[in-house]
Order: sequence, then structure tokens, then C-alpha cells
Amino acid sequence: MFNNLSEKLDKALHVLKGHGSITEVNVAETLKEVRRALLDADVNFKIAKEFTNRVKEKALGQNVLTSLQPGQLMVKLVKDELTELMGGDVEGLNLTGTPSIILMSGLQGSGKTTFSGKLANYLKNKKTKKPLLVACDVYRPAAVDQLHVVGDQIKVEVFSDKGNTDPVAIAQAGIAHAKANGHNVVIIDTAGRLAVDEAMMTEISNIHKAIQPQETLFVVDSMTGQDAVNTAKAFNDVLNFDGVILTKLDGDTRGGAAISIKSVVNKPIKFIGTGEKMEAIDVFYPSRMADRILG
Ligand code: GDP
Repeated sequence: MFNNLSEKLDKALHVLKGHGSITEVNVAETLKEVRRALLDADVNFKIAKEFTNRVKEKALGQNVLTSLQPGQLMVKLVKDELTELMGGDVEGLNLTGTPSIILMSGLQGSGKTTFSGKLANYLKNKKTKKPLLVACDVYRPAAVDQLHVVGDQIKVEVFSDKGNTDPVAIAQAGIAHAKANGHNVVIIDTAGRLAVDEAMMTEISNIHKAIQPQETLFVVDSMTGQDAVNTAKAFNDVLNFDGVILTKLDGDTRGGAAISIKSVVNKPIKFIGTGEKMEAIDVFYPSRMADRILG
């Protein structure tokens, strides 16, 4: 995960690590390399620039040049800033409703259906939760079948209504079914499109208004780089979602999405997907991710 970024940041900071004392020129050169590494990882220009400016300010504020271990201090400053940029504290799911309703949004292929299953499985394993999955894709029967396959695999009930063409009605019927059958969490999988379009946004917005979920999650493929950030912005403008799910972090992703999304939409990344299997789900810990990136 993020091997390229890790290597480049390591190289950028390496110069400082060996120094007993450093100069302002060392710091400036290092930060230039750090910025270049972030840009290479698909972090947007403005975010990368602000990042290095903040690290520079802190370095000056903490008198990095005269500190005992200037190299180590610089590494710490970069790590802290990376953690802050990716979200700071960990934010869990709001599961206060009876039942708690979780709405999935995102483009087609982002990993919504897979993640719906992973999350249902994750919550089911917590013992106190009895999730219900609801299939609201009225355009692709295969998507409904896929959710049933996932449900069978993890032994979680799936509610669907294949003849029905109204996703709002299906979502509402699913919630009623959950209430009648003792499910305390409802996960609603919705239809995506290949790109952001108005019809999709209107549909997801109508579902959102009708069911008032406690959690609206936006699922995004981390491999899509800067596009991930643009798509997040488009969905957030319409849904004001509560959290981001970054999928496919097991692939050769450059990491820009993970680093940029929080500061663009100001919503936390709550979980990551790290594979196709139902177990490949992790809570997102910004500080652990920063540790991982900086080695
Ligand atoms: P949806 O159209 O948003 O519902 O997307 P799907 O859940 O159908 O996922 C699209 C493809 O991505 C499928 O082939 C999934 O197996 C795959 N996929 C989903 N999440 C991950 C992940 O975290 N890692 C990897 N490697 N593949 C994933």
C-alpha cells in the first residue's frame, strides 16, 4: 500500500535523518522533495503546498534547527501533519437509530455492494447487531443478484423486490421489513452510474430524504486518484454525507485520495477496503496510516 509514496518520502527525509545539525537550506530542500512526493502520489497541488507550508511553520516554531535531533523532529512533524490531513481522530459509525439506517452511495464499480456485505459481516460479528441488506438498484438485476450472493456468503438476510422500479419504495419496504423482523441495522445498497450524472444524484437524494439515514457513506475507489476527490465533492454537495469508504487500497494505488479527501470534503474516512473477500475491511486510523506511509 502506497509503496511509491513511502519510498519517496523516505528518500526526502533521509537526508535530514543522518544530520546532527541542519540548516535552513536542508529544511527547504527536504520540504520541496516532500511536496514532490505528494504531487506524484496524486495529491492536489494546493493541498500539497499547504501541507509543506504548515510543516515549515511548525519547524520554525519548534526551533527545529537548534533541537537535539532535528532530523527526527522533522520526521515527526511530517507524520503529525499527514495524520491531521487524513482525519486526526478516528470517527466510528453512528448506530443510534432503531433500526440504524446506513445508506451507501458512490459510482458504479466503486465497491458499494462488496462493501455493504463487508460492513454487514463486520457488524454481525459484533454479536449485538442483526443487519439486513437492502438491494435498491432497479436498473441492473445482476446487482441485486450480486447482493444476494454476498448475503448468502455471510449469512445475512437480503431484502429485494425485483419487479419494483421505485428505489425509494424498496428502501422504505426494506426498513419496514427490518422493524418487523428484529433487524437493528439496515444497510441500503443503491445504484451507481459510471460517472456523476443528474439522474443518479436526484435518485440518491430522494432516497436520502425519504429514509433519513443515521449514516450516509460515500464509497470511492482509491485507484481513481484525483477523480476520487472530485466525485466525493459532487456527492457531498448533494448528500452532505457522514463518512467516506476508500476501497481497493490493496491495489497499486498512489495514495492521493486517502490523503486529500478529508481536507476537500471535511468528512472522515471511516473504513477502508483491502481486498475482494468479505473479511477485507479495516477501520481507518489516520495515525496508523501515516506510520505506515512514513515507515
Ligand atoms: P459497485 O458497483 O459499487 O457495487 O461495486 P462492486 O462491489 O460490484 O465492486 C466492483 C469490483 O471491485 C468487484 O469486482 C469487486 O470484487 C471489486 N472490489 C470491491 N472492493 C474491493 C477492494 O477493496 N479491493 C479489491 N481488490 N477489489 C475490490
